[in-house]
Amino acid sequence: MKVLVATQKPFAKVAVDGIRKILEEAGHEVALLEKYEAQADLVAAVADAEALIIRSDKVTEEVLAAAGKLKIVVRAGAGVDNVDLEAATKHGVVVMNTPGQNSNAVAELAIAMMIFMSRTQFTPATGSEISGKTLGIQAFGNVGRLVGAKAKALGMKVKAIDPFLPAEKIVEGGAEPAESLEALYAGSDFVSIHIPATPETIGSIGYKLITSMPKGATLVNTARKEVIDEAGLEKALAEREDLKYVADVAPDNYAELKEKFGLRVFATPKKMGAQTAEANINAGLAAARQIADFFATGNTRFQVNK
Ligand code: NAD
Repeated sequence: MKVLVATQKPFAKVAVDGIRKILEEAGHEVALLEKYEAQADLVAAVADAEALIIRSDKVTEEVLAAAGKLKIVVRAGAGVDNVDLEAATKHGVVVMNTPGQNSNAVAELAIAMMIFMSRTQFTPATGSEISGKTLGIQAFGNVGRLVGAKAKALGMKVKAIDPFLPAEKIVEGGAEPAESLEALYAGSDFVSIHIPATPETIGSIGYKLITSMPKGATLVNTARKEVIDEAGLEKALAEREDLKYVADVAPDNYAELKEKFGLRVFATPKKMGAQTAEANINAGLAAARQIADFFATGNTRFQVNK
């Protein structure tokens, strides 16, 4: 089978070598499309591909319609908001992610961001310590749980909420269940967001939740920029001079936020939460193994478009 690895932001070389080894040993052919500039390049490249490995690359109806032989897409990572799942189902294409494979990288970034903001973006101003502060984790999945464990080790009090997890699971994961999302925000010096971007979550965090946070609080977003209501965030930061926002990746109104609020806001210019050699390798190799297994045995364990 022909497997296309299409990555506008390429994997580390060691990950590409590993992907190639797994797939070639399983009898497949690997083609690479890296750093492509236009969506049309992806549309052209998928024509004869039977499998596709992507990162944040966009798999739209147009891509799927052009990929007549495609059977499986594996998104090397967690979020699948860059894939049109309905269209994939319509075209009979299985879509998988590689859950958990890049979570540690993202969790380390979330912790780093909390310290960075507490120390006023590493400027000489007097900062504060995260030890002894309360961290609220919004969604206790693979990343959220790891952030909680690391924060606890750093002396933070950790609370969490997840509408799809019973309170016992949150306790088992080492956090205190929050009574509600509102209570989580109102009672946390830091809130770290780990919800997926879905029609329900997009734009769901705005002025009301953000301004309910206690004095000096910081909102940390390593999920998707789309889950934030950006106008609400801007209004909240304008009204409350003590609040801070840090994100991977920049909101659309970042230039304005930076100009108005200076060191109270920070965003990475390019999404980099999973951009570690380890996460690249883990997610890339998992994607290759899942494809080899799918063709060998029909295993669809990580399918997300059922
Ligand atoms: P996960 O699937 O392991 O966990 C997501 C959690 O969100 C689950 O526990 C689920 O119950 C909960 N959830 C689902 N729908 C929800 C909703 N409507 N409201 C509230 N909670 C909901 O995913 P993860 O690996 O922890 O990653 C979380 C998100 O972080 C991803 O969806 C992705 O958008 C983002 N992410 C970013 C980077 C990065 O590079 N910055 C890397 C990986 C993941």
